[in-house]
Amino acid sequence: MLLSFKTELKPNNKQLTLFRKASGVARHAYNWACATVQSCLENKEKAPSAIDLHKRLIAEVKPNCEWYYEVSKAIPQKAVADLRTAWDRCFKKISKAPRFKKKGRSDSFYLEYGTVANPKIRNDGKRINLPSIGWVRLAEPLPMTAIHNCTISRQADKWFISVKQEIQLPEVAINRPSVGVDIGIKELAVCSNGEVFPNPKAYRRMSKRFKHLQRAVSRKEKGSKNRTKAVRSLAKVHARVSNIRKDAIHKLTTHLAKNHSEIKIEDLSIKAFLKNHKLAGAIADCGMYEFRRQLEYKTQKFSSQLILVDRMFPSSQICSNCGNHRHKMPLKERIYKCLDCGYVEDRDLNAAKNIQRWFEGINIPIRLDQMASSAKIACGVDKPSVSHSRTTMYGERSRTVKQEVNSEFKQLSIFEATEPCRSDVA
Ligand SMILES: [Zn+2]
Repeated sequence: MLLSFKTELKPNNKQLTLFRKASGVARHAYNWACATVQSCLENKEKAPSAIDLHKRLIAEVKPNCEWYYEVSKAIPQKAVADLRTAWDRCFKKISKAPRFKKKGRSDSFYLEYGTVANPKIRNDGKRINLPSIGWVRLAEPLPMTAIHNCTISRQADKWFISVKQEIQLPEVAINRPSVGVDIGIKELAVCSNGEVFPNPKAYRRMSKRFKHLQRAVSRKEKGSKNRTKAVRSLAKVHARVSNIRKDAIHKLTTHLAKNHSEIKIEDLSIKAFLKNHKLAGAIADCGMYEFRRQLEYKTQKFSSQLILVDRMFPSSQICSNCGNHRHKMPLKERIYKCLDCGYVEDRDLNAAKNIQRWFEGINIPIRLDQMASSAKIACGVDKPSVSHSRTTMYGERSRTVKQEVNSEFKQLSIFEATEPCRSDVA
């Protein structure tokens, strides 16, 4: 399978200038193409293709901007192609319309040399020979000696190179167990076998320094050198926070994918979570999107399977011991107590155990104390009862069926719920 590999570059001052120039050209081409597509759409014309855009760029823009000739010609070409892909995503209603890029924000550019069959970007383990830039020092050796293309990007004051690489799937142990994982705020993850991964809470830990540095930025005069310096040190702390977070998630997802045959996680609606302002900071701080993205490719790498449990599955409300009872669980209550069988368990562990049992034909009991007012428990924390569906990693999301609310649907098993029996309960 193809995996991308990203590592730091150690450019000298001349190379730094070239990097900045290259990202400037990429940004200019991107913004020009974005404006061109926008004006075409405003005039009710068909949006030009990536090839047409590039032809127009060469004819209209390049003669007036001689600094385009100082960098590799692949850079503006790829920027225009990327912009067109972004518009395609917008036309298909996958994402919003692309926005203009701002100087100094997410600087990056693309380089290529040779062909896929005969790659010509070479590295000798310590340095890499980039077209029109020269030999740049590498922070660590790349796993291959020659590549066809790469992307160079900046985070805070560091530059990174990212390359794609075909890897052999590693051998894995047979008879690996399956595991249910409850992703949380207090702990990063709690597994159904009792393993607990603490949340590094990087942002919260650094919040004092953030406040201090943000104040420093706002007190400096706009456009001054001191402000640039302050912005730079703030960006460094941001990068550090994101690295702490990434590190914790990488370790967790590798452990899960490598040692388990099936990983079951909740298909959480993170957008709904982020609308809850009290939780937004805490959730953004534990990187749930990143967790799922990493699990998706790592389960492929380690030949295991990722199963997404329906987001409406009330994992934190069911008793994992008797399985027949469901109780109201306010978010602040950290211990699950079953009033019927007397079972007492940590809230997250109880949820993880329920997630692990998903697909084993368990019933979802109706919560007796709150049948009518399911709207009250919005924000997805206690999972409002709207639909039940089952999504596997490979995308096919089976039919959704509105469940519970109506007492006729009491004790509806998941297998029944995935059958196409639509009902019109509100
Ligand atoms: Zn019980």
